[in-house]
Amino acid sequence: MPIDENSLLLAIGFCGLGLAVTFFASWLSARQERFTLTWTLAVLLIVTNAFAYGTYVRWPSLGLGAFAFGALVASFLLVLLAAYQYRGRGVPRSGLAVTAAIGGVAVLGPFATGHDGLGMMAANATSSFLLARTMLVYWSCRREAPIPITGMVALYAATSLAFALCASVLVFEGELVRGAAPKNWAEDLSLFVYTIGLTGIGALSLSLNQWRLARANRRDALTDALTGLLNRRALFDRHDGRPVPAGTGVVVFDIDRFKRVNDRHGHAVGDDVIRRFAAVLVHAGQPGDSAARLGGEEFALVLQRVSEADAGGIAQRVRHAFAAETILSAEGPVRCTVSAGVVFVDEPGYSFDSVLSLADDALYSAKREGRDRVVRTAMGRPANKESSNGNAYRPGQLAGFPGQGQRPHEVRGL
Ligand code: GH3
Ligand code: MG
Ligand code: MG
Repeated sequence: MPIDENSLLLAIGFCGLGLAVTFFASWLSARQERFTLTWTLAVLLIVTNAFAYGTYVRWPSLGLGAFAFGALVASFLLVLLAAYQYRGRGVPRSGLAVTAAIGGVAVLGPFATGHDGLGMMAANATSSFLLARTMLVYWSCRREAPIPITGMVALYAATSLAFALCASVLVFEGELVRGAAPKNWAEDLSLFVYTIGLTGIGALSLSLNQWRLARANRRDALTDALTGLLNRRALFDRHDGRPVPAGTGVVVFDIDRFKRVNDRHGHAVGDDVIRRFAAVLVHAGQPGDSAARLGGEEFALVLQRVSEADAGGIAQRVRHAFAAETILSAEGPVRCTVSAGVVFVDEPGYSFDSVLSLADDALYSAKREGRDRVVRTAMGRPANKESSNGNAYRPGQLAGFPGQGQRPHEVRGL
């Protein structure tokens, strides 16, 4: 099938216009993703190049040639900048500026001196280099979305190779002064690959952007905005729906007389107290444990693979560490205490909900006992089975809860 150069250039131009509108709309809806704005500008330059090059093919002139090839190289520079912005580890500004300066001189210099053939070699070689560099930037962050990024890397590689091929054929032909657009098999092939590459890369970049936004929304929906801890929903997502494994400790904390802090020092200081407690809590567990804000000034800590003594000890350490914290307010320093209920699960088969509500019962027992303390209890003695101390336990009930013949025992000085 003979390749109609004009139709392909028109396809690039109109597909580019569509992409520019879509990238711009994406940027308007999520302005923190700056790479979509850079892509908008890059695609507008690609469109400019397609129409300028199409005109140059019919009516060649040094000025139009320089403009068309200059726009091509500039568009790929922006595509590389967009890749750095997407990766999010900073943009190497000076490196990009040096590349832009070298590319600009290498492409526009020869056109200025009438060596348009040399300028075309430089434009193709620089385009190939910029696309290969862009490919490596995406490759370095492929873990974020392996399938679309691998697809994109393959398209960048193919397009970069196509431009390298064009440069090689021009060098092989050796015409430093041409007076017209090059016409050879490599040009035809590269235009074809470029058309596929641009549409594929554009579509994949947009879908990556959507995927990233969806992930950020999912993360926001599961994160407590004030403290950055998991929220209640995230905690249940992690632990509900399957039996709590043996060796799990669940601790529920509630800051003591917190209403007074708000009343005396204002809500902003209250928020500081909540944040400070969250900071203490995140340092309490091990990797794999979950720290969550259940709501207000109530928190939960789910400890994996611990002993009953460890679970109580960790709750005590959090209590002591928080009591030692001082929060500054206009009325002077604020110090708070916290109460905690600890449940240790020593045999599997209990729902997370039932364990958490038993921890809640223990917490309210700690409140009733005078606050600033930890009350500990254990699950894992199924209904009707005798416990070691002779009391009967039911899942979801507090062992030895007042009214059941035994007071919950406190963990002190661990
Ligand atoms: P207790 O020792 O019995 O727990 O007493 P308390 O005063 O802490 O009582 P309670 O738990 O009922 O009070 C919780 C207060 O926390 C009530 C509510 O106004 C306040 N609160 C809930 N969410 C927030 C928040 O995000 N920021 C601030 N500053 N206050 C909050
Ligand atoms: Mg409270
Ligand atoms: Mg409360």
